Amino acid sequence: MEGIILKALSGFYYVDDGSGRLTACRGRGKFRHQKVSPLVGDRVEFTPLEKDSGILDAILPRKNEFQRPAVANIDQLVVVASGAIPVTDPFLIDRVVSIAQGRGCDSVIVLNKCDLDQADALYDTYTRAGFLTLRVSAETGEGIEDLRAAIAGKVSAFTGNSGVGKSSILNALQPGFHIQVGEVSDKLGRGRHTTRHVELFRLDNGAIVADTPGFSSFDTEEMELRAPESLQYTFREFAPYLEKCRFTGCAHVKEKGCAVLAAVKAGEIPASRHASYVRLYQQAKEVPQWQRK
Ligand code: GDP
Ligand code: ZN
Repeated sequence: MEGIILKALSGFYYVDDGSGRLTACRGRGKFRHQKVSPLVGDRVEFTPLEKDSGILDAILPRKNEFQRPAVANIDQLVVVASGAIPVTDPFLIDRVVSIAQGRGCDSVIVLNKCDLDQADALYDTYTRAGFLTLRVSAETGEGIEDLRAAIAGKVSAFTGNSGVGKSSILNALQPGFHIQVGEVSDKLGRGRHTTRHVELFRLDNGAIVADTPGFSSFDTEEMELRAPESLQYTFREFAPYLEKCRFTGCAHVKEKGCAVLAAVKAGEIPASRHASYVRLYQQAKEVPQWQRK
């Protein structure tokens, strides 16, 4: 049978085959000798045994994988931000979106607390950059239906700085969800925000979601080790302008005649997005060559 690993705990992998039932599987011996070990999010083949137990037979090819948190096959990142306090720094959004894009993972931008602040600047930036950008309020329920539609049938990882209302949104998507998340972590005897443990949850509409730690821990170390030249490809709205600079080895930072800079000046690329790119590029440049991936 085929399924997806929703959680890993004490040597068992809990596999969801879509029937609403979880099978607690042990890995076959071969997983221990191979380099690859099963991750939450892995699509697997398994053999059911008695009493909801089973054995993992194979891990199907991964679309992507992250180390912190350890999770595979994320279809999209849902970046929760806010125009009300605590106001989200666009650089934090751009950094995590760039990491995701580098792994072939789309991002949806969710501007929460729209009952307090419409977050016009953020809304303008991310719609212009071509992201699905939703204004929602976990408080009034506005936009929650649109978000539910945006995650239906996909595996989404929710991320966002603490206090933006990530837990409130998950709870608005499915009442009781947040409580469920808390309970699982309590069994491990650790706080929800201090644990690296990741678990996927299937919502009623077939959406699978992961509640992941805040921006700071989402594979940012990995980020700092990337080649500066690869960064340009992780800013989706740069794509049409890269062609024109490609043959000159342009860094698109301050070069004369750069098509990317011209697009920023013409308002075709949002200025704050380009500023984030430059900051990430300069950070990446500081890493010695031998340390890079
Ligand atoms: P998290 O740290 O991102 O999980 O944030 P929480 O879900 O714990 O929310 C942080 C605070 O913001 C709480 O006091 C929530 O009641 C409040 N909050 C969350 N969403 C909204 C919203 O849409 N509107 C308003 N006005 N307050 C919200
Ligand atoms: Zn250029």
